Parts: sequence; C-alpha cells; structure tokens
Amino acid sequence: MWFFRSPTVIFGDEALSYLSSLPIHRALIVTDRHLRSTEIPETVRRALPEGAQSLVLSDVGEEPDLAEMTPHLDEIRRFAPDWIIGVGGGSSLDTAKILFVLYERPDLTVYDTTPLQPLKLRSKSRLIAIPTTSGTGSECTWAAVLSERAERRRHELASPEIIPDYAILDPELVLSLPLEQTRNTAVDAITHAIEGYVSQWKNPFSDAMSEKALELILGSLATVVKEPGNRPARTAVHIGASMAGLSFSNSQIGLAHALGHALGARYKTPHGKAVGIFLPLVVEFNQPVCEQRFERLNRLFPTEVRAGTLAESLRGLLRSIGQDATVASLGVLREEYFGALEELASLAAESTGLVTNPRDSGTAELKELLMRAYTGGGPS
Ligand SMILES: [Zn+2]
Repeated sequence: MWFFRSPTVIFGDEALSYLSSLPIHRALIVTDRHLRSTEIPETVRRALPEGAQSLVLSDVGEEPDLAEMTPHLDEIRRFAPDWIIGVGGGSSLDTAKILFVLYERPDLTVYDTTPLQPLKLRSKSRLIAIPTTSGTGSECTWAAVLSERAERRRHELASPEIIPDYAILDPELVLSLPLEQTRNTAVDAITHAIEGYVSQWKNPFSDAMSEKALELILGSLATVVKEPGNRPARTAVHIGASMAGLSFSNSQIGLAHALGHALGARYKTPHGKAVGIFLPLVVEFNQPVCEQRFERLNRLFPTEVRAGTLAESLRGLLRSIGQDATVASLGVLREEYFGALEELASLAAESTGLVTNPRDSGTAELKELLMRAYTGGGPS
C-alpha cells in the first residue's frame, strides 16, 4: 500500500488573495531576516481577511535553529494563533512547520516528529506555506531540517502531519528573487525531480511530478535567468519547483543530496549549489542502473543544451546559466578539501539519501565522487 500526499495547492496570478477567503482570525506569520526589509511580509498581512490579527516573527536565520525558536514560544502561546503561515525560502517554511509542532504539542519534543509517531496536530491551528523562492519544495513536503548550532547538529524531522494544509504559489513573490538564489534554488528543484525519479521508492505519482517539473523548469529557466521579471517563465519555474517537491516528498532523494548536505555542513555552501555540484557525477554513477529512465529525462532538455547523456546535458545546463559546478569554483583550497574527504564521506553516509539511491555506495564510492567533484569530473 502506498500514499501520495500533498497540500491543497493554490497557484498562479493572485494566488495570495486566496488567504482572504480562509477563516483566519489570528495568524502567526513566520518569515526571515532577508524578507524583513522587503514588502513581502506586509503584502501577506494585507491579504488576510479583514479584521484578522497577526503576529510576525522575522528573525529566522540561514537554517532553522532550535535555540532561536524557543524564546518565541511563550509569545506564540499568548497570541494563540489559529493559523501559522510560513513565508520565505525553505528555512522559513521549515521553521513554521517546527513551530507548528511545538505550539500544538507542548508536551512533546521536536525529536518526536517522526513518521512512526501520530502527532495529532491541528487541534489549535492549521498550516500554510507561501514560498518566496522556487526550489526547496518545502511547501509540499513532510520534512523539516532543524539545526542545533551550539551542538553542531542537524536533524531531519519528518511526519506526514507537517505537510502544510495549503501551499500558495504566487509568482508575484518570486519576481524579484536575486539571480544567485534563483539559480541555486532552481538547480535544487532539478535535483529533486531527478533524484525522486530514480529513487528506490519511486512510484507512478512521483514519476509524473518529476517529468512535468523538469519540463516546466527546463523550458523556462534560461528565460528567467535572462529576464528575471518575466512573469510566465517565473510562474512555470515556481510551479515546477513545487512539483519536484511533491516528487521527492513522495519518493525520496538520493546521493547528490547526501553529498551536498555533507559539503554544505562543512563549507556552508548554499544547498542548491552544493547538490548541483554532485548531480552530474551522481547521475553518471547511477547510469548503469537507470539507463532508460535517464534517457527519458534527457529528452526533456531544450535542444540548445541537450547532449548524448543526461549527465552531459546537466553540465551544459549549469554552464549555460552560469552556475558553479565544481568544489574548486567555491574557493575551497585543494589541500584543505582532500584532507577532509574522510569526514565528508562519513557525513554523507549518515544521510537517508544513501538508502534510497538506486545504486548502493560505500565509503570508497563516496570518496571517489567527492574527489571528482573538486574539478567536476575531469582528472583530479
Ligand atoms: Zn534539495
């Protein structure tokens, strides 16, 4: 028996105005420091039903950190929201999910957020995710990444109950996304679509999401990079990124994510950039067991960048949008990096991506992929 889980998705022009039709009385809006200085939090507040009260939390950092969240819990409980609305990139949306659990179940710790434990959420509130980047897919997934910086730990929390009730995809909110974030998050979404498509837990529903996600993203990404204000192209990438989120949320990620998380943990590389560095190498590694599936995906690439294999098409795509595709390009010194291979391989080995990747890998294979990533596949 299998499931396909999804929020109700509201998408397209004016999608944000859907908020005014919901029975919202007290909204907790969770956003981040970068968005604090933009009009976006106020735009969301204005879209609430008339008379609704709101409390805006805007000090989310790069990654959701338990120590940053805990001091807000008393204030949130006093405010007693009936809706929690995450607005921002993956970190804001993940923070909203975690605060939702902590608010609903003060008797639990965040680590009780596992698929094995019924959480019985939604006795006080419901959850909405409004992404302002196009890539993490967090608005559609049942996972949240939590950091405990003081202890240098990172946890992947997961429960089907933290899938938002609504995901609102309004292109207006991504029109001014800076180029660097546009590229990183789009490459993340492409990685979700490809890894979800060959995961051990792939299924017909996730397959459909992956194929359409790639078609939408690959068909419009070049335009978005050239003309960031192009609304139809932004809309296509935004919707595609959520579909890629639905794919991997209902199948799983793979080795590019395992390796990307390891790189990100050590060098603070943005997530999408990190997974993108490994993606062509992991595709090559998986090629022997995914030949037909990769061939089908390769046909979705625009002719300008399509090559003989999916890995080569991906390299062409990364080049065409100006995306860094090697560890060396991040400015990491060769000696430092090669000295850290053991640690990086063991960090990667902890990831769930290893379990669901279509081809098994041990330390030797992980180290080989890490080594090749320094120069992107050529002789290291
Ligand atoms: Zn990702």
